[in-house]
Amino acid sequence: MATVQQLLEKFHEVASSPQKQKEYYLKEGKKVVACVPIYTPEEIIHSMGMIPMGTWGADVEVKEAKRYFPAFICSIMQSVLELGINGKYKGVSAIVIPYLCDSLMGLGENWKMAVPDIPFIPMQYPQNRKPEYGIEFTKQAYLRVIRDLENITGAKFSEDNLKKSCDIYNAHNKAMREISSILANHPEISAVNRKDIFKSAYFMEKEEHTRLVNELIALLKAQPKQDNNKIKIVTSGILADSENLLKIIDDNNMQIVADDVAHESRQYRVDVPVDGAPLDNLAKKFSAMDHCSVLYDVDKKRADYIVNLAKQYNAKGVIVILTKFCDPEEYDYPILKGAFDKANLPSTLIEVDRQMVNYEQAKTNIQTFREVLEY
Ligand code: SF4
Repeated sequence: MATVQQLLEKFHEVASSPQKQKEYYLKEGKKVVACVPIYTPEEIIHSMGMIPMGTWGADVEVKEAKRYFPAFICSIMQSVLELGINGKYKGVSAIVIPYLCDSLMGLGENWKMAVPDIPFIPMQYPQNRKPEYGIEFTKQAYLRVIRDLENITGAKFSEDNLKKSCDIYNAHNKAMREISSILANHPEISAVNRKDIFKSAYFMEKEEHTRLVNELIALLKAQPKQDNNKIKIVTSGILADSENLLKIIDDNNMQIVADDVAHESRQYRVDVPVDGAPLDNLAKKFSAMDHCSVLYDVDKKRADYIVNLAKQYNAKGVIVILTKFCDPEEYDYPILKGAFDKANLPSTLIEVDRQMVNYEQAKTNIQTFREVLEY
C-alpha cells in the first residue's frame, strides 16, 4: 500500500502532466475526448468506452488565439484555443464545449475555424434547467452529443453502459466530497497538494482516481488528529489551480478547509439519481445543480451557500479568486460581498488569469488579509 506522500506525489505528477496522460491513453488504443468546463457530460463519453479529459487551458502566453478573441475575454477560453492551435490536443477524437456563458459560445465557433482537425461538439444547456421542459431540453442536447460522438468516433451508446458509468461517477463524487471534508482536519496537507488531488481527477480514468482518493482517505483517517494553528479559509471562484497563488496561501499559514470553486467541489455536489432511465437521470442531475455563477438563479442562493460553508468549517474568511473577464463571476461578486458583510465574514478578492506571471499584488493582498484575520 502506498504512503500519503507517495499518493500526493502521484496526484501531483498527473495534475502536472495532462499531455503525458493523453499520450498514455492514446498508446493504449483508447479514444480521448476533450471536455471543456463547466458541466460537460463526462458520463456519456465514459459509457461509450472513451476517456473524457478535462480541458481548462493552461498558464501559457496567448498569441495565436488573439487573432480570434478580443483581449477582454476570459483567459481560460483563450488558453484552450491557444493550446488547440499549437497542437497540444493532437490525437483527441473531438472536443465537447458546453454553452454556459458567452465566452464558451465564442470558443465553439472560433474552434471550428482555428482547429479544424479536431471536431467540435456543442452542448447546449437550457437557462431554465429545473422545470420538466428544461430537463427534456437537456436530454435532447445530450442526444445530440451522443449522435455526434457516434458519427465521429464510431463508438456506440447504450443506456445500460450509461447506468454503469453513472454509478462510477457517483462513487467518484462521494470520494471527492469525503476527501475535501477530511482534508479540513489535516493542516499538514498543503493548498498545493489539495489542488493536485482535484486537478488530477480531470486527467485520469475515474475508476483509478476514485481508488487512489479512497486509499488516501483510509490513510488519513488512520492518522492521529493534527494540531492546527492555521487560519481556516474558504475559497470561491471558477479556477484556483495556480501553484504560485496557492503557495502564497500556504506561506501565509492559511488552510483551505472547503471550497466553492467550479474546478473543484462544485463538480461533485450532485449525483446522478439511480432509479429510472439513465439518460433522463443524467438530465435530472444537471437540473438539480445549484449555487454556481453560470447556472440561472434569480435568488443567487450561492451567496448564502458560501456563508454557511464557512460556518460549517469554522473558516475565518473567504478568498474570492476571480477569473479576470469572467462575466458570470463578476456579476455575482457584489451579491457575495453583501452576504459576507452581512454575516460579518471577512473576505478578500483576488483577480487572476492564466497569463499572470507577477503575483506580488496577490501576495500583498493575502498578507493583509491574514493580518485582518489574525487581529
Ligand atoms: S464561466 Fe467565466 S471562466 Fe468559465 S468560460 Fe465563462 S467567462 Fe470563462
